[in-house]
Amino acid sequence: MATEADTQTGLSTLCVHGGEQLDANGGIHTPLYNHSTFGFPSTEALLDVVEGRADGNLYTRYGLNPTIKSVERKLALLEGGEAALVFSSGMAAEAATILANCRNGDHIVCIGDVYGGTYELLESNLPNLDINTTFLLGSEIGRLDDAITDRTRIVFFETPTNPNMEVIDIAGAARVAKARGVLVVVDNTFASPVNQSPLKLGADIVVHSTTKYLGGHSDLTGGVVIAAKSLIDPIWPWRKNLGQMMAPEVAFLLARSLRTLVVRVRQQNANAQAVAEFLAGHPKVKKVNYPGLPNFAGHNVAAAQMAGFGGILSFVYDGDAQATAAAVDKLRYFTIAASLGGVESLVTQPITTTHHGMTPEERARRGIVDGMVRLSCGLEDAEDLIADLKQALS
Ligand code: PLP
Repeated sequence: MATEADTQTGLSTLCVHGGEQLDANGGIHTPLYNHSTFGFPSTEALLDVVEGRADGNLYTRYGLNPTIKSVERKLALLEGGEAALVFSSGMAAEAATILANCRNGDHIVCIGDVYGGTYELLESNLPNLDINTTFLLGSEIGRLDDAITDRTRIVFFETPTNPNMEVIDIAGAARVAKARGVLVVVDNTFASPVNQSPLKLGADIVVHSTTKYLGGHSDLTGGVVIAAKSLIDPIWPWRKNLGQMMAPEVAFLLARSLRTLVVRVRQQNANAQAVAEFLAGHPKVKKVNYPGLPNFAGHNVAAAQMAGFGGILSFVYDGDAQATAAAVDKLRYFTIAASLGGVESLVTQPITTTHHGMTPEERARRGIVDGMVRLSCGLEDAEDLIADLKQALS
């Protein structure tokens, strides 16, 4: 069973043993406690937990459930953070993080492309609470200091970004934000803790859609926030009172998946590298966006801050939206779907899914063109994925 000394332990070992809480029956993993509530031997024992004098189990929506606490501990260890909170989705994790840190009149700076739902939250929903966001392109990171105002509370970004795969310099952004007393929140969904550790590079808070690599099998929806305990504590009441809790069954499934995270992600990295190299030499492909390609703009920063380049890439097909859709429709091993990070390869045209809600003008500003295709490479044989792309693009 993992202990505090585990921060010195290798990532694969933490995936298997980190945070496990075995019970007296001898099961070799943390059991699934799908109970909504927990009993106490006395009122005094209950009050000790309610009033924070004792660590105990109380009520699942509060997160005071052994299955939930166990997966949170494993996730905190994997990201090198002190504490973690799991959520019903990645969007729930992002929303609670922002609501806990911003109030009316406050300001956020968002760098680079972000997931379409995140963009909508920042651009359409939060302004209703008078929380407004300045959006910088990834190439405008040099303007970060100017974009920060005395009401800026959060600098938010993903890296690599969705779907251009731009690489944002985490340590560089953190230096600027820290000097102005602003929190840096990094969405580490695309990279996963196997490829990138934002907290070690100076970020304050990491968020994930656990729906993606951490779940890894396209069979669960969830999110997590990981940070120092002093930053996690104020987020907890928002999760509790907005009722954003991850179900214990999902937490159990997530812990099951995390035990194989390292081997999955390393294979996905290798498959994406092979696919990117194949596409880079294909006559119908105008451009390949993948940090592992030496001539890609973000390659040097990625090589410095990432342990692997990830399982996702995008490319621009030499054709309009219809021709691109026709090529995508011919793929056999890449399923057309709006997610990523699973064992099976997925394909999407960002204009039809993740960035469908963005205006054509904003898409153009961000280089999200009609012929863009995003691939999430799964665990199939790279040769089969390449053969599939060859027949579809021909
Ligand atoms: N962050 C990234 C990078 C994503 O790709 C997504 C979803 O696709 C989210 C956050 C939101 O996650 P969820 O769908 O679990 O709410």
